[in-house]
Amino acid sequence: MNKAAFLDRDGVINVDKGYVFRETDLEWMPGAIEGMRKLQDMGYQLIVVTNQSGIARGYYTEDDFHRLSQFMIESLAHAGVTVAGIYFCPHHPNGSVERYTRICDCRKPAAGLILRAVKALNIDPAQSLMVGDKASDMQAARTAGITLLYHLTQASLFPGAVEVSSILDVAQKQRLGQNVRAQN
Ligand SMILES: [Mg+2]
Ligand SMILES: [Zn+2]
Repeated sequence: MNKAAFLDRDGVINVDKGYVFRETDLEWMPGAIEGMRKLQDMGYQLIVVTNQSGIARGYYTEDDFHRLSQFMIESLAHAGVTVAGIYFCPHHPNGSVERYTRICDCRKPAAGLILRAVKALNIDPAQSLMVGDKASDMQAARTAGITLLYHLTQASLFPGAVEVSSILDVAQKQRLGQNVRAQN
């Protein structure tokens, strides 16, 4: 079984400017790329799990999302980072595009995106971690059986989560944790 670092996208990998779908609006978060590289070096598969209600709201299309995803994957590959998968929820209960407007089992805080990845990529949730900036990211991960929760927040910390400032901070804390375990 594989271990994975599940990463929320907006506000974790790239700056959350609200419904980002254009390349020109893609601004990497500080420490994101370096952190992803370090987590990868520690043996974590990098899996993006992202709510994209902008699709249901009609702000951009699924094709727009895929185009930006491809651009992100290629940019990260140039930086030596391999993305194992990008799982997204295009739905919203109050959307304006009919085919995406519904209550689904994949919009975080539901665990559907993570569970789908766990199955497809043979991931062990118990060895995995989640990095998110919202309580809904933390909740989705916990429901999927992930106990190691890293919360990139300036507001209230999700109960049981560890506060971090970037993906790089996560990687550094993970390395520290491994060293502590190695000494025991
Ligand atoms: Mg986010
Ligand atoms: Zn969904």
